[in-house]
Parts: sequence; structure tokens; C-alpha cells
Amino acid sequence: MSNLYPSILNELRAKEVQLVAVSKTQPEQAILELYRQGQRDFGENRVQELLPKYEALPKDIRWHLIGHLQSNKVKYIAPFVHLIHSVDSLDLLNEIDKQAAKNHRSIDCLLQFHIAQESSKYGLLPDAPDSWSQNQFEAWPNVRICGVMGMATFTEDMEQVRGEFQLLRRIFGRLRERFFFENEHFRHLSMGMSDDYPVAIETGSTMVRIGTLLFGDRAPA
Ligand SMILES: *Cc1c(COP(=O)(O)O)cnc(C)c1O
Repeated sequence: MSNLYPSILNELRAKEVQLVAVSKTQPEQAILELYRQGQRDFGENRVQELLPKYEALPKDIRWHLIGHLQSNKVKYIAPFVHLIHSVDSLDLLNEIDKQAAKNHRSIDCLLQFHIAQESSKYGLLPDAPDSWSQNQFEAWPNVRICGVMGMATFTEDMEQVRGEFQLLRRIFGRLRERFFFENEHFRHLSMGMSDDYPVAIETGSTMVRIGTLLFGDRAPA
């Protein structure tokens, strides 16, 4: 466990950027250690791992789902999930809406876009919104689209990373104009991880997802 939490938090607060502590593969004790220091937002990328942690850990933790989500798993997290960052298809949105209604709540979501030069990462293509209709999102009254999420290429070339984050910010701006004009909920640009969060913040990130820097290295999967 590193002790970088207080300094990272101060840095982010000064810039009004929210911190999601990415706790995937980390034991409950490590999560509690940050919890005791005041952290409430934690991110997990697998439903199977999130569920036992949700059961075991304090109920005022806000759980963020940040990894690829299969439609058939939505029902397990629908009762409690705080924000789903990884909505990568409209079919998935359809299922989230259905499960939200069953739970008598609305679920906050981010649309994940594929901005990296890598084939392995999920996400909507940047031009996907071109084929959406003006009132596309009215079809899903129980989801609240709160912004976008993206992951840059895993590279040391920070200029490439910056270009990819700038692309995501442009997508965010276009969506806001076209679908979410004057919608106060549409406000999050979730980008930036341990290795690239300073660049993400320079590029307009409002929410960073940081794991390794807070918890130390993960055990290999
Ligand atoms: C693992 C992960 C992170 C955090 O990565 P670190 O490099 O450990 O900070 C952020 N976002 C997503 C989607 C992840 O899967």
C-alpha cells in the first residue's frame, strides 16, 4: 500500500477532479485502509469480484463499474451500482434501463468510446453517434447519461495519449451539443489512469480512475 493517497487527493481537489480508486484485485483490507482515510468512490472491472466486495464492505461506498459489462450481468449490480463507466453499446443501455426500472431507480452511466490505437479495448467508435437519432436517449428513461469515458493507448508517448484524450473531449462536446444540451447531469469526462492522469487533467478530465499508484502493483491476473 502506498501512502500517496493524501497528496494525490490534494492535487485532484485543487483541480476539482474526482477520484475513483480502482480496487480490482485488491483485498478488502486495502480498500478499508483508503476508506478510513475518507475515500468513498471505488472502481471494479468485474461483476464477479464486485459482488462479494459490495456484500462485505461498508454500504456507503459508491461502487463504479469500469470494465466491460455483459448484458446478462447487469441484473446483479443494478440494485446498488453508483456509476457504470463502460456502456459500450446501445443494447447494453437497453438492458440497464430495464434492470433500473425493476429496481425502481435510475442508473447513472457513461458512454465508453474507443479512442486508443489498440484493438483490445472496448468502446463505441467515435463516429457511432452520427447514426443516433435526436431523441435516441428518450427510449431509456431509467438511465441517466452523465458523460463519457475512454482509455488511451498503453504507451510512453504522452503526445499520442494527449491526442486521444483530446479526441474524447471533442466527442464529449459534440454529444453535449447534440443530445444533452442544458442537461446538468451530462458533465463527466472520465479519463486518466496511474500513468497518464496528469495529461488527462490538462485535457479536461473531470474524473480519474487510479489503481496502481494508490494500491501498489496488482498481482498478475
Ligand atoms: C485497471 C483500470 C484502471 C486503473 O489502472 P491503473 O493503471 O492501475 O491506475 C482504470 N480504468 C480501467 C478501465 C481499468 O480497467
